[in-house]
Amino acid sequence: MKSKSIPSIRSRLAGLVAVCLIPAVLLAAVLFYYDYQRGRERLVQDLLTTARVLVLAVDREFEGVERSLRALSTSPSLAQQDLRAFHAQATEVLADHYVNNFVLIDAGGQQLLNTAGVFGQALPKTANLAQLERVLSSGRTDISNLFFGPLLGRFVINVALPVRVGAGTGLTHSLVGVLLPAHFQKILQAQGLPPDRIAVIADASAKVVGRTHEIERFVGKSVAPGLVERLKERNQGAFELVTLEGIPALVVYARSAKSGWSVAIATPIESLTADLWRSLWLLAGFAALLLAGSLGLAWVLGGRIAWAIHALRSAAEKLGYGQAVVLPALPIREVDEVARAISKASAVLAQSGQALSASEARMRGILESAMDAIITVDADQRIVLYNRAAERIFGWPLEQVLGKRLEMLIPERFRTAHAEHVGRFSALGTTSRSMGGGTLIYGQRASGDEFPIEAAISQLDTAEGKVFSVILRDVTARVRAHEALERSNLDLQQFAYIASHDLKTPLRSIGGFVQILEKNYADKLDDKALSLIHRTAAAVKRLEQLTEDLLSYARVNSEVRPFVPVHCAEMLDEVLQLLDAAIVGRGARVSCGELPEIIGDRTQLVQLFLNLIGNGIKYCADRAPVVHVSARRTEHAWEFSVTDNGIGIDARHHEKIFEVFTRLHTQQAYSGTGIGLAICRRVVQRHGGRIWLTSTLGEGSTFCFTLPDTFPESRPA
Ligand code: ADP
Repeated sequence: MKSKSIPSIRSRLAGLVAVCLIPAVLLAAVLFYYDYQRGRERLVQDLLTTARVLVLAVDREFEGVERSLRALSTSPSLAQQDLRAFHAQATEVLADHYVNNFVLIDAGGQQLLNTAGVFGQALPKTANLAQLERVLSSGRTDISNLFFGPLLGRFVINVALPVRVGAGTGLTHSLVGVLLPAHFQKILQAQGLPPDRIAVIADASAKVVGRTHEIERFVGKSVAPGLVERLKERNQGAFELVTLEGIPALVVYARSAKSGWSVAIATPIESLTADLWRSLWLLAGFAALLLAGSLGLAWVLGGRIAWAIHALRSAAEKLGYGQAVVLPALPIREVDEVARAISKASAVLAQSGQALSASEARMRGILESAMDAIITVDADQRIVLYNRAAERIFGWPLEQVLGKRLEMLIPERFRTAHAEHVGRFSALGTTSRSMGGGTLIYGQRASGDEFPIEAAISQLDTAEGKVFSVILRDVTARVRAHEALERSNLDLQQFAYIASHDLKTPLRSIGGFVQILEKNYADKLDDKALSLIHRTAAAVKRLEQLTEDLLSYARVNSEVRPFVPVHCAEMLDEVLQLLDAAIVGRGARVSCGELPEIIGDRTQLVQLFLNLIGNGIKYCADRAPVVHVSARRTEHAWEFSVTDNGIGIDARHHEKIFEVFTRLHTQQAYSGTGIGLAICRRVVQRHGGRIWLTSTLGEGSTFCFTLPDTFPESRPA
């Protein structure tokens, strides 16, 4: 089953690639930008140096002109006012100088001499009267801004020096060296700047004098507006502006404090950032390539992983359906390890499956051969398992009971009780218990007949819910046998009772007749006949005793009286009274400890104590009998003991003497019927206790018995 909402391993891997690559690319971009900024700063510094060098070069040009002017001003021909000679001298100087022409101007502004023309030619007044005034009034060299020289008909720059002409003392004239912008153009070109750099030399009024690009178009015009402002503010700097051609550029400028002239070098932003953009595009291309490559790799790798995992999935499904799984070696170690584990699990399962089916077969064999019915029901009490013995016992074939409720096997009158019992058992959570709790329970056969059963129930929590298993046995035969036995026992008891009861009267008559015979005919009979009569009388007496004892024995179970509280000390007094003759006759001593009040059949308890104390007195050879009765409390009962100092009983007879008619001595040694202790055991058992003895031959015996301190739960009838 494919879940759309869960991302596939391929998309996860692609995400991972992107997450790893994107920050690296961004970092590279940032580094490139940082590098660009550093490069830009370096460029600014370099260009600033170049601009300063150029400004110095411009200043040096003016200084050179000034030096030439000063040299000419000292010319003797000037002092002698020999202007022709001065013209010739000045023209000579021009030959190896970059000054275009020299002009001599008087205080009124009239050009007296101009090397641009021939000597003696009519000359106009100077076009730059302002400079003349400045020079004469200050007495110092003056450098003009660029202006249009009418004589030359072009833009010129004048460097003027006040000079003395003739013998006078005052500086009355101005000697001017005229420079052409082309000269400054050369200075710029000599710098050899890269072709995209636009370098400008501007005069003190920020007019273009020299320019690497389009000088004809811009000469004499103001430099770019932004630069004009900057030049006023600072002597050097760098900023961005739009050049006169309209190109956005980074401008670096330097201004001479001396001449006020300045040099600016503009680098188009485009060429400045071109490198950055190239790097960034390269980076983008490289990143895209890398991304595509990595994604491709992730796709292939993801595919392999997905394939391996799909192989695992189908293997797991096969395993789930119990099919054998053999996986090939898979290309990823971890997945391969899981595959091996699955293969191993499959092998183990196959083995345990065989073992399971073998054990199932064994189990089935046991189920089918079991003598007892085994029935399993689910939580709804529907039959899910029903063995052959169940078929035999209930008479229903398997196919007719499977899936049916267990109730069909229970007589209707017990169904509610059964449901309650199962409910209680389920709630209790114990694993197993027997059913019925002491009373008989019944099943119902297909014929509708009820029959007694003995059953045990167990419960088990399984994946499908709780299941209950019942193992039950048809106990009809045993119950019948028990009932028959009980009936026969009862019959026997009744017979013994009736026989001993009915024997009493004829025995008494025989005893009476023998007495009469002895009394009336003693003198007529010989000794032998008399001896026979005596023996007959003794035998009758013994027979009477025997029937009396048998009657007592039978009565223990047949004469049922309600249990009542019995004060043992009082009861013992009564027993001692009954034994008075024997006690006195044997000189016996009977004592007792503290005795409790118990619950029981008083008459039978008298009989019990009577027999035990009586035996203690009787079975004492030649010493005065000493008997002690005591009681102690145990956990659930009172334990009584009757101790004597008599002849004792060998350990091998300790069990046997409680049986009817068991005697260890002859009538001559100790008279008796062998029923006394049998009566004792029956009485104790009827009270729910047990009887036993400890004894040492020749020293005495202790008979112990327990009597419960509460009403026994069930009393056998
Ligand atoms: P009976 O006394 O009538 O013979 P009992 O059933 O009372 O029958 O006793 C069975 C036998 O157990 C007696 O014959 C006697 O040998 C032996 N016996 C019973 N009580 C004692 C005792 N206190 N000391 C020694 N032997 C005893």
